[in-house]
Amino acid sequence: MKILKTRNTFSQHFLFILSLFFVINTNLDINAQEKFKVVLDAGHGGKDPGNLGNNYLEKDIALKIVLTTGKLLEKNKDIKVIYTRDDDTFVELDERGNIAQREKADLFVSVHCDAFTKAEAHGISTFVLGLHENKRNFDIAKRENSVILMEDNYETRYEGFDPNSPESVIGLTLMQEEFLDQSLIMASLLQKNFVNNLNRKDRLVKQAGFLVLRNTFMPSVYVEAGFLTNKKEGAYLNSKEGQEGIARSIYKAIVEYKKNLDENVVVEVRPEPKIEKEKARVFKDVNFKVQIASSSKKVELKAYNFKGLKDVSRAKLGSHYKYYYGNTSNYNEILKMKNQVKKKGYLSAFVVAFKGEERISVSKLLKSSKNN
Ligand SMILES: [Zn+2]
Repeated sequence: MKILKTRNTFSQHFLFILSLFFVINTNLDINAQEKFKVVLDAGHGGKDPGNLGNNYLEKDIALKIVLTTGKLLEKNKDIKVIYTRDDDTFVELDERGNIAQREKADLFVSVHCDAFTKAEAHGISTFVLGLHENKRNFDIAKRENSVILMEDNYETRYEGFDPNSPESVIGLTLMQEEFLDQSLIMASLLQKNFVNNLNRKDRLVKQAGFLVLRNTFMPSVYVEAGFLTNKKEGAYLNSKEGQEGIARSIYKAIVEYKKNLDENVVVEVRPEPKIEKEKARVFKDVNFKVQIASSSKKVELKAYNFKGLKDVSRAKLGSHYKYYYGNTSNYNEILKMKNQVKKKGYLSAFVVAFKGEERISVSKLLKSSKNN
């Protein structure tokens, strides 16, 4: 302050203008933050046509739905729309997430069409990233993820991700965990709009391991807008009426979602989250455990911390002591426990199974249950 008093009027003016500049600048920043950024991701594109049910092109239908949704959203001055593609080009799965990342988007909506071997299958579902609860959900994710096989260097790009392995998906889900609640709200709003406005068959909110959601660090949903393999639904999705209907419902759900966020409303879209209940894969007389370590040394369980894991058990197999976490006959439960253990730093932990005292093969067990 002392210094200021000695300054002439010019520098005082200069300071005033400078401070004004900062005020304007801050305002600009606030305005910039207020725009709600939505990434609209039309599935497939270019050399990847998506599914070809009834000779329709999934990539074209997804694009038309997305562009129509975008046009509706762009009328709202508080919303910025970002497309991962707005024409018939091939975009790698990880690049789609990167686009959303770079834009620091608030929401990621991926649009696809479903396909099934049985022509009567129809209806609309919205997925959030998670462990597939059943084979059907895994098959959808597998089909959609397999596009990476068309990409260059997919082995390194996706760090050894194998679209054909159910286990490969588990690592993906951790990234989306903190956004799961918001993603579920968005998914419920979408399903509500599809079912109430368009009278589509509700195939519910589901979870599966979609690779495109891997790099989206924001609430993210994946719409399977209906089955091209169903004659009636395929024709609907290929029609202007169908595409506009789906687009309008997506638009409405996004506006509703944003409004809830703005008003800080705690959304309870349904009395109970209508997420498909996990099919328990319970095996009678089998005990699953997570093996966290193997050592020739016998460690006193009570004296050792095991990175904070409680109730670690020990068994001697041959010359080595094995250390296990968890004990359950539910395979899904043990997969969750394996995730916990890995998060604690036991990166090479894996699931083992016992029948009585005897160690049995997990993969054989899972295979035999599938055949039943
Ligand atoms: Zn698709």
